[in-house]
Amino acid sequence: MQYSHSIEKAGEFSKEALERIEKEGLPPTPELYELWYVYASGANADVTRAIDILVAAEQNITLERCQEIHQRFLSENQQSEEVQKFGNRINETIKDVTGVVSNVKNSAQKYNQTLSGVTEKLSGTDSKEEIEALLKDIVAGTQDMISQNTVLEEKLTMSTKAMEELQHDLEIARKEALTDGLTNLANRKAFDAEIERVIDSAKTNSQTFSVIMFDIDHFKEFNDNYGHQVGDQVLRLVARTLTDGVKGRDMVARYGGEEFVLILPETNLKGGEVLGENLRKAVANKEVINRNSGEKLGRITLSGGIAEYTNGEAIEDLMDRADGALYTAKQNGRNRIAAAPAAGQSQKTG
Ligand code: GH3
Ligand code: MG
Ligand code: MG
Repeated sequence: MQYSHSIEKAGEFSKEALERIEKEGLPPTPELYELWYVYASGANADVTRAIDILVAAEQNITLERCQEIHQRFLSENQQSEEVQKFGNRINETIKDVTGVVSNVKNSAQKYNQTLSGVTEKLSGTDSKEEIEALLKDIVAGTQDMISQNTVLEEKLTMSTKAMEELQHDLEIARKEALTDGLTNLANRKAFDAEIERVIDSAKTNSQTFSVIMFDIDHFKEFNDNYGHQVGDQVLRLVARTLTDGVKGRDMVARYGGEEFVLILPETNLKGGEVLGENLRKAVANKEVINRNSGEKLGRITLSGGIAEYTNGEAIEDLMDRADGALYTAKQNGRNRIAAAPAAGQSQKTG
């Protein structure tokens, strides 16, 4: 994973991680440090979720469980194993076809020899029987070639199919790697790639764009009251409402546990505020109903911070400004949107 926190924030997360490791009686290995640092920062929604579920179920946080979560979501091996599997499938398909091609090559050489031999023998004989025997050789050789070609054709058809399947599976794996499993939104990795692309495009086309950071209000309380599964249902509801409320070119991503981020290309602060306000209202107007019991659980609200990209600013600074505006929205009473002042200007309050 890549981390882009300020020194101050990194210090906080680091302290939290080490305290937690000590409290749980875990060994402070680099692996466990990374896991708890990631958890403290909320940078990986899967990790947050996996640990919160452990805690909610009042299960012991053992070394084995921590290693399991690390292996599943943070280990470099996780990706390289996938890549290796695809590599093996490609190699096997190629080996299969190469084997048949080499058989066909041998047969063609043999056939060529048969034909040369026949030509030589034909020029030295008038005997009908001998000519007949030679023709039989040619027919047998030709039939052999035909059947070898049929095998090759079948193998090629099969390997084309195998390659198509492989391509399809690769495409799925690529999408999965960029998708948040719970909400089906773009994940943090997809967001990181997209924002770089949008910044490049904004620079080339002298265009602006905005980002909105949304955070669910009092979500901890909601989880505590109704449990994690209902909490997850709410995350999906918010994800759907945000996705339904934006145009195709906008990206909605899950930024952390209960934080969402939107990239709005070619949108200035004013435009972003209008959209953000519409999205906030759309979520606030939905009633949450427990899917299992049908019980009405009331409404949930979002706070949002908007920042318009300032030419040349670093991604971290843009995100810090959006985060600062989000903080302002929370301070001002939640269920509202706040806009960040342009880069270099101080944060407005009120
Ligand atoms: P605030 O209005 O200040 O944002 O309050 P809050 O309670 O939403 O903020 P806080 O950051 O204290 O709590 C966020 C909670 O979100 C903590 C965690 O239990 C919950 N959460 C994070 N990720 C998930 C998830 O994937 N599923 C569920 N069900 N809950 C999650
Ligand atoms: Mg939060
Ligand atoms: Mg929150």
